[in-house]
Amino acid sequence: MLDASESKSVDVVIVGAGFAGLHMLWKVRQIGLTGRIIEAEADTGGCWYANRYPGARCDVESVTYSYSFSDEVEREWQWSERYPPQAEIQRYLAFVADRLDLRRDIEFSARVEQALFDAATGRWTVICANGSVYSTHILILAVGPLTIPKMPDIPGAESFKGQSYHTARWPREGANLAGKRVGLIGTGSSGTQLMPAVADLVEKLSVFIRTPNYVLPARNRELTTADRAYWESHKAELKAKARRMEVAGGGDVLSFESLRDIRALDIATLTEEERQEVMETCWQAGGPAPLIFAFANVYTDPAVNEIVSRFIISKIADTITDPVLLETLTPTGYPFLAKRPCVADGYYESFLKASVEAINVRANPIVRIVPNGIELRDGHVVPLDVIVYASGFDAMTGSLFAIDIRGRDGVRLADTWQAGPLTYLGVAVHDFPNMFILGGPGSPSVITNVVPTNEFQVDFLGDLIAQTYLRGVDLVEADADAQARWVQHCQDRAAQTLFDRADSWYIGANVPGKPRVVLPYTGGTIAYQAACAASAEKGFEGFVRSDAAAMSG
Ligand code: NAP
Repeated sequence: MLDASESKSVDVVIVGAGFAGLHMLWKVRQIGLTGRIIEAEADTGGCWYANRYPGARCDVESVTYSYSFSDEVEREWQWSERYPPQAEIQRYLAFVADRLDLRRDIEFSARVEQALFDAATGRWTVICANGSVYSTHILILAVGPLTIPKMPDIPGAESFKGQSYHTARWPREGANLAGKRVGLIGTGSSGTQLMPAVADLVEKLSVFIRTPNYVLPARNRELTTADRAYWESHKAELKAKARRMEVAGGGDVLSFESLRDIRALDIATLTEEERQEVMETCWQAGGPAPLIFAFANVYTDPAVNEIVSRFIISKIADTITDPVLLETLTPTGYPFLAKRPCVADGYYESFLKASVEAINVRANPIVRIVPNGIELRDGHVVPLDVIVYASGFDAMTGSLFAIDIRGRDGVRLADTWQAGPLTYLGVAVHDFPNMFILGGPGSPSVITNVVPTNEFQVDFLGDLIAQTYLRGVDLVEADADAQARWVQHCQDRAAQTLFDRADSWYIGANVPGKPRVVLPYTGGTIAYQAACAASAEKGFEGFVRSDAAAMSG
């Protein structure tokens, strides 16, 4: 562990010990530079450290939600389930940190508060809340796209006399919900996973539903010997496939295999009966990928999307027969995938339990939180012992703005991005020399399987670092014109999708005052990787290089 009392000088500071940060540290060492990870939490894991609510698991298959860069790690780690639970992912990342001897270069429990660029020296000063100060040549932000919890703007939350928890800040020691009257605000990915996991524990679970989601069954299960044998014998091919799949769920290679012949069909060539058959097969396979990939253009063509949306709504109606409950749970007014789809086993079925009530807060909104519960517009107070906020995140920019980042001439990143994020290839920002971002806005990040997408970015940055800094270049940053063209390209691609058809965190709509901009790059991983490769082939075109002396002089 590092001594917090003195300022430390390293080649590369990486903020965050999640998937991206750990791999980046390994890469930095491979290149021959010194690196340190600074991590706010007490251990590795990133979002998987913090999001330890009951039922938390990844909705991308474990075998592809895994690193590929280390043969040792691949050989020695075995996943137990198709979709990995939070605790197992955290164990995996701890295993990686130990196996690759990464911990000696990680400072835990150190929250970075400021990162200041000094043009005279060409170095960044990184200041942590615990007093640690680092001087570094290169600053890499691996802070995670979904890190800063967003509490709902409901008055009176502080007056509540019971316990309150946010899913993204779940206590390490757990929360006792047994026999309690629990209110759940939020039915996105977190809320829909938590709900079936606690429905049988509690005395009463009151689920406050504002915008119902399209919730797909995961059909999670233990991995079988046959799964493992199949994975081992097709690993290279399946990993390559996962790495190039365009959207989230693109890691579902196990279920996908049985569906190979129905992938990306042209819906226009199928009869109604054939379409239903394809969608039913996808639904039975479970997970997000089959339905997302079954038909071409589901993300971009409203007619195709509507067919899939209607199918999912029909499946909800198969389980929920009560018309009032069905209305509360049926997504309307926005297409499938405009919000991130949720994947949870037993979600709709849980509403049939006597212990669970669904409260339609579109029809009867929450007006305030009172000491003993949640008050609705009609004056009814839902009595509660515990409130669980599964209310989401200030996504993609929140974790970057949580640090006071100042680039050239003291310019603040938060000010530069006031109208929306400005990046080149999602990794570099003009006026912020030697600062790079992993998994950030302007990159495919959250709409893809983030693990292989992050690995691609780590490799790309590794090459960039090796071919510039190691050859004597002091400063690298995004060229202003290249950045403007990339931002325009991101907006053009986003305009071809259905993402602006819903108020989601993808476009910042869940945070008042946040500019309404599609945050991730929506052109797909293939186009993204091609753009990065084209830059690299031309000597990292779009990045400007200079030396510190020239700049300060
Ligand atoms: P989210 O998708 O943003 O959902 C937040 C929920 O809180 C929504 O249902 C929202 O309703 C509700 N809400 C917020 N304020 C409210 C208010 N004042 N009154 C009533 N309802 C309110 O957040 P999340 O579920 O934490 O998921 C965020 C992202 O994290 C996911 O999309 C996913 O990318 C990631 N995640 C992934 C996994 C995984 O399996 N890999 C698991 C969990 C999370 P409205 O929609 O009406 O605003």
